[in-house]
Amino acid sequence: MNPRTALVTGGTGGIGSAIVRYLARQGHRVATNYRDEAKAQAWRERMAAEGIEVCMVPGDVADPDSAAAMVRAVEAQCGPVQILVNNAGITRDTTFHKMDYQQWTEVVNTNLNACFNVTRPVIEGMRARRWGRIVQISSINGQKGQYGQANYAAAKAGMHGFTISLAQENAKFGITVNTVSPGYVATDMVMAVPEEVREKIVAQIPIGRLGKPEEIAHAVAFFTTDEASWITGSNLAINGGHYMGW
Ligand code: NDP
Repeated sequence: MNPRTALVTGGTGGIGSAIVRYLARQGHRVATNYRDEAKAQAWRERMAAEGIEVCMVPGDVADPDSAAAMVRAVEAQCGPVQILVNNAGITRDTTFHKMDYQQWTEVVNTNLNACFNVTRPVIEGMRARRWGRIVQISSINGQKGQYGQANYAAAKAGMHGFTISLAQENAKFGITVNTVSPGYVATDMVMAVPEEVREKIVAQIPIGRLGKPEEIAHAVAFFTTDEASWITGSNLAINGGHYMGW
């Protein structure tokens, strides 16, 4: 396995931490962003206690200038980004007839526009070096829609449109671009849902349980390998069978 420089956005979150851990244990130099210094420090100490050193830079993926500065800081500290995981994401749920413009734009900016903001400063270097791995973390709800998530489902579906176009443009440059679409994963976000609601969600999952963050991380890591060089423009659904559409 060739050690590479990997940037995982939102690496301090539930799924992001698992991706950071997985890539670091494979020997990659892993970087992520933070917005809150104190929170970032506590997270860095937890990772260090597991023997994982992470390059941490400030950055807001929803803001183009901040995202570009974040990429520059990662490249200055850890070298050119060879693996990019667009993982940072948020929800602002409400039915569309009650949704305000801010709830719409915050979600689209953080989930979808962030793909532009972070990938744009990275892609030319990957093309010049003729190697790269880009993985978007989308969602089951971008595939099937979800009551109360018109903003999130639109942004997450858009991420896959981004993936398949970028995959076509960069296939000849040794760059693969893929999407991972998780179903409901046992992160703080999902565990905060009242137990009776969670039970209803689990009842819809043929495998009969929530996903584990490591199960998402494993798939992301797979896409980043040299051996996955013939897989591009794909969308891997990891959802316990919750949604089996194409
Ligand atoms: P978390 O809320 O645990 O983590 C989200 C991460 O994104 C945090 O590190 C957060 O940082 C960061 N982030 C949010 N907004 C920004 C921003 N503007 N700029 C920079 N970083 C930001 O979420 P999960 O780990 O659960 O989710 C990770 C991804 O997986 C998301 O894209 C989510 O939509 C997707 N997903 C999650 C599922 C689940 O069941 N959990 C299911 C399907 C998809 P900060 O601490 O600063 O807020």
